[in-house]
Amino acid sequence: MDLNDDLLLRYSRHILLPDIGVAGQERIVNATVLIVGAGGLGCPVALYLGASGVGKLLLADGDTVDLTNLQRQIGHTTAAIGENKADSLARTVRAINPEIEVRPILEALVGDALHDAVAVVDLVVDASDNFATRHAVNRACVALGKPLVSGAAIGFSGQVAVFDSRRAGSPCYHCLFPEQADEPEVRCAEAGVFSPLVGVIGAMQATESLKYLAGVGETLIGRLLLWDGLQAGARVMKVPRDPVCPVCGQAALQAG
Ligand SMILES: [Zn+2]
Repeated sequence: MDLNDDLLLRYSRHILLPDIGVAGQERIVNATVLIVGAGGLGCPVALYLGASGVGKLLLADGDTVDLTNLQRQIGHTTAAIGENKADSLARTVRAINPEIEVRPILEALVGDALHDAVAVVDLVVDASDNFATRHAVNRACVALGKPLVSGAAIGFSGQVAVFDSRRAGSPCYHCLFPEQADEPEVRCAEAGVFSPLVGVIGAMQATESLKYLAGVGETLIGRLLLWDGLQAGARVMKVPRDPVCPVCGQAALQAG
């Protein structure tokens, strides 16, 4: 798809950036992205990717909008309470940018449906809120060779990382956070979450996604960014691939 006059105007502040330009914006416009989760992280991710012109967005969430979500899930309105979150967020994104295609998926993606959705996109954003989904999304991305922009946020702190198993040395999510059967899950409903924290982390996920799609800058591949909202500080750690990782290690890939 080429950029017509309207689109050149809509995306002009991107195009003015020498690193992006027309070529970078065309890559963004021609990209397809899957966002898993339409909650605190998924809202800012979808709003920024949609406003930026990512040509096709797949938004997956099986939950409905609840009054307690509205303190931070900025893509949903009070009128949307009771509606499916993917549907509600898709409507908000379309209102901002009717030039793109937004496909809501009204269920939690698992099994073949997850595999099929990951297979047709250029990049996956994990904006989910539980370990089981994060590990399932990671496995699908490694199996299909898709880049994964991962984020998590709870309380006042969060983290962002980018994984691309096709790159030598890039870890996968499992290399950093090995799956444990009895992993304690900390949920917003019990622990609380500071409203703009999910905006900070979600905006960083959108930043990493757009950089990757446009082919600019240095993404967080092989690094983990930790953000502490209370102290207003960030740390970036190098994270290596685990050579015996059961998801992305040599033995696992040969077996698969
Ligand atoms: Zn791994």
